[in-house]
Amino acid sequence: MRSLVLLGPGSLALEETGVPEAAPGEVVVRVASCGICGSDVHSYAGRHPFVIYPVVQGHEFSGTVESVGEGVSEDLLGGRVVVEPSLACGRCRQCLSGRYNICTGLRVMGFQAPGAMCEYVAVPEERLHPLPDRVSLTEGALVEPCAVAVHAFARSGVSPGEAIAVIGAGVIGSMIIKVAKACGCTVLALESDEARAQRAAGMGADAALVSATVSADDVAGAAGGEVAAVFECVGDGRTLARAIEIAPRGSTVVVVGVFAGPVPVEAALIQDGELDLKGTLMYTGDDFRRAMDLMSDRALDVSGFVSRSVPLEGVEEAYRLLLGPASDVMKVIVEPGG
Ligand SMILES: [Zn+2]
Ligand SMILES: [Zn+2]
Repeated sequence: MRSLVLLGPGSLALEETGVPEAAPGEVVVRVASCGICGSDVHSYAGRHPFVIYPVVQGHEFSGTVESVGEGVSEDLLGGRVVVEPSLACGRCRQCLSGRYNICTGLRVMGFQAPGAMCEYVAVPEERLHPLPDRVSLTEGALVEPCAVAVHAFARSGVSPGEAIAVIGAGVIGSMIIKVAKACGCTVLALESDEARAQRAAGMGADAALVSATVSADDVAGAAGGEVAAVFECVGDGRTLARAIEIAPRGSTVVVVGVFAGPVPVEAALIQDGELDLKGTLMYTGDDFRRAMDLMSDRALDVSGFVSRSVPLEGVEEAYRLLLGPASDVMKVIVEPGG
């Protein structure tokens, strides 16, 4: 079979490799669709701190069960599935409390373990989820980023009907907008420029403003009242500082973006306003199931996310495009079989 291997920064090779065999407790999935994530692009660019080269990338994928290992029901064969790419130890304090997304020894497919930019991939049966009939295999590749948003939204503790602000409406920020809207929230999107603010409005935000120039009063005005949470989805010191500045007293700032290094924050605002500053990482099975329910019920429409589909040969060009200036590409889907 063909596998796209990231040998090191800027070095991708399409290699002929053996089809994996399902070990006990595993299944082999024939990959149908695999989304390209910003973190994949960062790994390609040599800017991802935790990737271990060489690696087959790809952690947002759907497919069909091709074979099953010992101890796994053959009823799964041929089934349409999506896969949680997190490989947890199952023994640490976090795993034992059900929060295996923050497992001490967490490995993620596509970063520290083989991912899905290939024709077949072996995965633990316990990370498999059947794809609902109403969700296509292409849409299945969007379950993972949707689950990131479901988890981040749950971390915020926001109740249905409250207002939120989302800074940065890329794929994850836009997914949070849609999850919040599906929960009856009012959503204000804050973006770096007018064009991106317009795009955020197109993703379902009730209002969209340029983040650098808004005041806390502007935020409350546009959101129809004080927001209960501000989601930082950029991973930049300036936008995190902005999030803390505009967060009303007693609200929550959720750190969704991935930061390349330390950034200064106005700790006095956190202290004085009793702000809750919360991190969020990936998801658990419950978030995956909730994401699929939202997609299956059409409470969350993902049709606007897929910009294009490419074969394995097209991934490198897609990376260059995504690394380019002011890319308006949202999600590129890799189809290893075609
Ligand atoms: Zn991702
Ligand atoms: Zn663990």
